[in-house]
Amino acid sequence: MKYKPVIGLEIHAELKTRTKMFCDSLNDPNEKHPNVNICPVCMGHPGTLPVINQEAVKKVIMAGLALNCKIAEGTFFERKNYFYPDLPKGYQISQYQKPLCQNGVLEIPNPKSQIPDNDQNSNTKKIRVTRIHLEEDAGRLYHLPDKDYSLVDYNRAGVPLMELVTEPDFETGWEVRKFTEELQLMWQYLNISEANMEKGEMRVEVNISLRDEQQETSNKFGIKVEIKNLNSIKFAADAVDYEISRQKEILEAGEKVKQETRGWNENKKQTFSQRSKEEAHDYRYFPEPDLPPLYVVSTKSQISNHKSQIQNRSEPFIIEDIRAEMVELPQQRRERFKKRYNLPDRDIEILTVNKQLGDYYEHVASELDAAARDYHKKMGRVGEEPVEKHVTEKLHSLAANYMITEFPMLMSAWAGEINELEGFRIEPEALAELMVLVFHKELSSTGAKAVLKEMAETGLHPEQIMKEKDLGQVSDTRELQKAVEKIISDNPKAAEDFKAGREASLKFLIGMAMRETKGKANPQVVEQMLKNMIR
Ligand code: ADP
Ligand code: MG
Repeated sequence: MKYKPVIGLEIHAELKTRTKMFCDSLNDPNEKHPNVNICPVCMGHPGTLPVINQEAVKKVIMAGLALNCKIAEGTFFERKNYFYPDLPKGYQISQYQKPLCQNGVLEIPNPKSQIPDNDQNSNTKKIRVTRIHLEEDAGRLYHLPDKDYSLVDYNRAGVPLMELVTEPDFETGWEVRKFTEELQLMWQYLNISEANMEKGEMRVEVNISLRDEQQETSNKFGIKVEIKNLNSIKFAADAVDYEISRQKEILEAGEKVKQETRGWNENKKQTFSQRSKEEAHDYRYFPEPDLPPLYVVSTKSQISNHKSQIQNRSEPFIIEDIRAEMVELPQQRRERFKKRYNLPDRDIEILTVNKQLGDYYEHVASELDAAARDYHKKMGRVGEEPVEKHVTEKLHSLAANYMITEFPMLMSAWAGEINELEGFRIEPEALAELMVLVFHKELSSTGAKAVLKEMAETGLHPEQIMKEKDLGQVSDTRELQKAVEKIISDNPKAAEDFKAGREASLKFLIGMAMRETKGKANPQVVEQMLKNMIR
């Protein structure tokens, strides 16, 4: 029998707002002291009233727009009632019947797909997003080892939380990873959430079952297992792959998969049973009586049209305004970088995933465009499009190469992260200057690396460093004459061999000349000189 995995995700993300969802206590995920960002509203004191955080609603609408969701024109909050010590009010304000966003889609790179409506020839796979709704987070419980009590920190209670649910469109751990990474990046780009999984700002729950491929037509899904408390994307993907094989073994043995919640043991690389599914909870959802409904209109002009309907109600959210605040999404950046800079996909991915580094690159590239224009003006080649395009493309790729291969080492010296540019001493303008020098062969690549290192340490511009350290590349044959003569007389055997036709000996002699000049000689010039002098 062949089994096909059926996997759906539920993803929570804490929104990046100044204050909490329904009060003005600070939403500060970095607060180290427990129970300081609290107030009577988020502590559920009787007689207090919640007030909607407009910023949070906008952010969820923005998340919906980024995934092409349909945004609800009218919606409302509901109370989800349950008792737990991390929930001071005894209910969570959430959305149930009518989420803010519905029916979205995110494309991940994967050619093979069995989902109906999915274009089989396309090299992307569409993952359908069922809904995104807005709710509030609970406090944080600390269960101490060897203690007969637990501690609770309410700083997180009432922090705006968005929940996204997908259709069960995934089939592998790899697909889960791709989707989750892209979503995380998208939310970071849009400044919706920091979405750091280690800090619990983004939490992924996986639902997974296998279905018998022979029974495709019956459209019956198998019994699903839910995996929770996954605190990295890698763990989520690994847990999925493990769970697929675990369930397959059970089914192949003719047994039944138990419906339950499982956790991930990273040491054993296994999922383990946490609790078997109790009877479905009755949360006694009902509309939150202390909050007004939410209204959303497409454009400002619609406000007056709908005046009668929204009179005396809360101000509507305006989609065109929210859209106007949206920055470029990661996928849009990939496509634009390809078109504009024509870099290899691998480089584009690095400059997309590391947004700051990509922004830095754009700054360097625009400096290089200006430099290329100046160069052409000087050479009297204004308007000679193909040449100019060739030069800029060369400069663009040179800059990407230096950033991607050299920056990580320079940065690890003081920060350790390729994307943490705060305090990085090489200004984009200075890197552009260096690229122009390399392009014109005024510096060898060894020289350029030495200059770059100095730039990172001193913040100086390349020309200053070259002058101070005497690092410029020497192309003047008169200056190189002595060194080349010395190399020939010191290595008579190699010179003879080269004369007799051995190319390897020429390479050797060039290498010796480079060493003699401490890497400053222009190797092409040295090569020509050796040829002239020996042959
Ligand atoms: P529940 O009522 O248990 O919360 P939902 O229908 O709300 O289940 O779905 C929750 C998540 O589980 C969604 O991401 C959905 O795609 C996924 N899901 C639903 N049924 C299955 C199944 N049989 N196998 C795997 N995932 C499933
Ligand atoms: Mg559900």
